[in-house]
Amino acid sequence: MKKRIIILGSTGSIGKNALKIVNHLKDEFELVAIAANSNVKDLIEQINTFKPEGAGIFDERHHKNLSENVNSKCRIFSGQRGIRALVREHEADIVVNSIVGAAGLLPTLDSIESGKSVALANKESLVVAGKLVMAEAKKNNVEILPVDSEHSAIWQCLIGENYSNIKNIILTASGGPFLKRNIDTYESITVEEALDHPNWDMGNKITIDSATLMNKGFEFIETHWLFGIPGDRIKIMIHPQSIVHSMVEFNDGSIKAQIGIPDMRIPIQFALTYPERKKGTVDNRSLFNSMQLEFEQPDLEQYPCLRLAIQALKVSGTAPAVLNAANEMAVNAFLRKEIKFTEIPVLIERTVKNHDVIDDPILEDYLEADRWARDYFKNEVVRNGN
Ligand code: MG
Repeated sequence: MKKRIIILGSTGSIGKNALKIVNHLKDEFELVAIAANSNVKDLIEQINTFKPEGAGIFDERHHKNLSENVNSKCRIFSGQRGIRALVREHEADIVVNSIVGAAGLLPTLDSIESGKSVALANKESLVVAGKLVMAEAKKNNVEILPVDSEHSAIWQCLIGENYSNIKNIILTASGGPFLKRNIDTYESITVEEALDHPNWDMGNKITIDSATLMNKGFEFIETHWLFGIPGDRIKIMIHPQSIVHSMVEFNDGSIKAQIGIPDMRIPIQFALTYPERKKGTVDNRSLFNSMQLEFEQPDLEQYPCLRLAIQALKVSGTAPAVLNAANEMAVNAFLRKEIKFTEIPVLIERTVKNHDVIDDPILEDYLEADRWARDYFKNEVVRNGN
């Protein structure tokens, strides 16, 4: 029987790679529905190629354009409610969630509550509400299948292992484009420089997060929730080549690593075919040509966002939700050239410090913390001058 797949964020980098895999493994998968944020042109093309039963667009202004340009058999959904209905109303085995930001949380919960496993690329679901998401997945007996390359690596290292034998998880980080840059010149980093990542080709938001290392901070929090390991046993290691995608150290001193060229098709395909492996499309031949692997400890002065994320997990409750919302606001302000690169962590820290943390939050508390942080950022942080 074919696995039935829904892809959220189908016009983004992860979504497009997921479609390549569905296309490459036609006998394994059936694409049931897809949804995009606002790229209606690519979405129409995808619908006409893959002919899903349903399609959604988050930006409601494109609803008419979409329905007029696809086969009438395809059910069209729009807006946040529409995307949520698309997830709930289709029968499927796996939802690939590659929505950007906290907007991915409710669709993750919709997938879980309607009995679908989640191939999770939207790490913000776990950053904002990891405890709730993991508890719901357990309650509904569905799996959270990591798509992030690091978490896929950790997961693959842990297959067949007893989690109680884990000593440390070693989360690798490329260090981003500014690893070797003098920290005194960080203030003058431009949007264009920050968008030029050395190893990975990704969307704008995650590329900026990779330059500040907030992405690694989020992955630190994500690792905690996915594998149930406390923060003090998750070690972050800078590894500029992005060949070792992460490692697990066991109690007996053995360390397992998962390696490969940096290509998201590998972790995406593994999440979709798990527990099996199928023939892939990635060419690893260049891997050993001149392979040099370097590792170094991250400098928290150089990467204050990493420090903020480590602190937020320590505090937990609604703190990581506020961290995430403030980060989304700061990254957008940086992309619009309203704030400097070095102001990103400063403004996030100010927002987090002013938040009254709720310790054992329910869903509404997480959503309220997210709203509060965005309002605070808009009204206090930016208006009063940085
Ligand atoms: Mg990653």
